[in-house]
Amino acid sequence: MEIIRAEKMGFCFGVKKAVETCYEIAKRKNVNKYILGMVVHNKDVVREMENIGFITLDEEDILEDKDPLKKGDVVIIRAHGTTSKIMEKLKRKEVEIKDATCIFVDKIKEILIEREHEGDEIIFIGDKDHPEVKGIISFGEKIHVLKNIDELKESSLDRGKRYTVLTQTTLNKEKFQEMKEYLEKYYSNAQIFDRICGATSERQEATRKLSRTCDIVIVIGDLKSSNSKKLLEVALAENTNSYLVQNEKELDLTLFSENMKVGITAGASTPEDIIKKIENKIRGNFNV
Ligand code: SF4
Repeated sequence: MEIIRAEKMGFCFGVKKAVETCYEIAKRKNVNKYILGMVVHNKDVVREMENIGFITLDEEDILEDKDPLKKGDVVIIRAHGTTSKIMEKLKRKEVEIKDATCIFVDKIKEILIEREHEGDEIIFIGDKDHPEVKGIISFGEKIHVLKNIDELKESSLDRGKRYTVLTQTTLNKEKFQEMKEYLEKYYSNAQIFDRICGATSERQEATRKLSRTCDIVIVIGDLKSSNSKKLLEVALAENTNSYLVQNEKELDLTLFSENMKVGITAGASTPEDIIKKIENKIRGNFNV
């Protein structure tokens, strides 16, 4: 048996930094420690964070003042950030804010604030219900959120206004390209910023490549994580013998046999620790 890892897999830069921030803060004694929402979309990581002393906060509870926060408590903001309202509430509560928002998300927010200040309206391409999008757009006022090319074609944009075009970091590149071409053709008054983060597409491309050469593909990730589910879809399109597994306890060893080439990949929210445990379980059973 041979085990091959995808060239790009597991924690992305922003998530890694947010989790490291949590471990750093966990060392502090005699202070209440909170994380705003799930630091990573992975149940095992959330459980681990609870074990080292964190309590997960609900954004709605903060908005409705139903949270347990007291002056001096520490609150970590996750990699995909939060809204301006929540930030204001936290400041008013005089808690210590540890902002682990990914620099790529922050950069988009910065451009948005700057360009609005200069008089532009914002065209934001992304899913308005996604926490990252909700967070970024909350810092602006004149924003048109468009999900896809159909919404763009139906929108009532004005050729006499100045627009800045920004995107969700995880937007699909092809989808963006299509919308970019349309905007360039019909709206020369729109300045387009390509700020899509490569982490998602790199992981998908590496999974595609891996799945073509292996007998079985194990995608490691939370069953509810959208980026892990997407990796499974990519793997299945190339190799029908592909499975999404959450952790080593759920790994079915009967799927494997001695002479297999096993491909392993993982979503951007899957920690190395879980990947290693799965790999070791396979190795231990087949003496690889
Ligand atoms: S996916 Fe990209 S933008 Fe989002 S946290 Fe990871 S590195 Fe940052």
